[in-house]
Amino acid sequence: MTVASAAPRSLAADTASAVDDTATLVAPLTAGPGWAEEIRRLARERDAVVLAHNYQRPEIQDVADHTGDSLALSRIAAASDASTIVFCGVHFMAETAKILAPEKTVLIPDARAGCSLADSITADELRAWKAEHPDAVVVSYVNTTAAVKAETDVCCTSSNAVEVVESIDPDREVLFLPDQFLGAHVKRLTGRQNLHIWAGECHVHAGINGATLTAKAQADPDADLFVHPECGCATSALYLAGAGAVPAEQVHILSTGGMLDAAKNTTKATVLVATEVGMLHQLRRANPDVDFRAVNDRASCHYMKMITPGALTRALVEGRDEVHVDAATADKARGAVQRMIEIGRPGGGE
Ligand code: SF4
Repeated sequence: MTVASAAPRSLAADTASAVDDTATLVAPLTAGPGWAEEIRRLARERDAVVLAHNYQRPEIQDVADHTGDSLALSRIAAASDASTIVFCGVHFMAETAKILAPEKTVLIPDARAGCSLADSITADELRAWKAEHPDAVVVSYVNTTAAVKAETDVCCTSSNAVEVVESIDPDREVLFLPDQFLGAHVKRLTGRQNLHIWAGECHVHAGINGATLTAKAQADPDADLFVHPECGCATSALYLAGAGAVPAEQVHILSTGGMLDAAKNTTKATVLVATEVGMLHQLRRANPDVDFRAVNDRASCHYMKMITPGALTRALVEGRDEVHVDAATADKARGAVQRMIEIGRPGGGE
């Protein structure tokens, strides 16, 4: 599936579209009074666990059983006793949950919720690239489709990308995809010249750039900078921080869990946050006394925001949209994901 060309839509538009084909729904479609209780009741009725990515709308995060990054949520999905996983995130994340928990029913409240970074390389493009470098080891960031993961030797998160690459025979070529910022970061840290980088990026967050980051840091020189390395939106900030665009002692590259811990313990009055703006909801809840500010307040993933209260209601009432990954693809992709989990601290503490 691909939705890279889907335009951002308003909450009202989303809710309206969810209503169109759900005339039999009796549950509330907006996050008004009684909505959260109804979602909890519906989840129990369906034997479902509701997972929400950190970049989801606040009301979705608040109603979910668990909130976290994609890999942590996939691990929870695999370990859960629930027979149904409702994954409030983007499609590749729900696919990863299905790969790790093939016996469970995995639902995503709106299957059109894609990812521009995952869509920046197809399995056909990867096969063609591999043909040019037949002896190379393929390392894919976790923001990839199941079909791309099936062509991959080992997946990585941005937390363990360096360790994954360092674990590979230095004489072997490495094809690193799809995020060019994370690839550049890994190349700089490993000094590896035989690492080839796919020129993909998350265009949603192209606004988190060097000029913005530097200007924000200079405007508030005492503020700390939290950079969350998991999603593609943060990898450009990760690269810039590593390149010295902002003072190193003020830059904290943190997992979600680390970011929340740091939020509780910070002595700073202001913290600049370089990631998708959905994360601010949890940080402000963790420490209401601190002024958490987005480095770029337009860094909002409209794919993530397609998961509306109405879409979640519909998912639980109607059991849709179900995520399928064919068994052969899932088997191949699972190997790459499991190798990722074995190396370093993929998403540790998140
Ligand atoms: S923020 Fe970017 S990388 Fe993350 S899910 Fe959205 S489009 Fe994909």
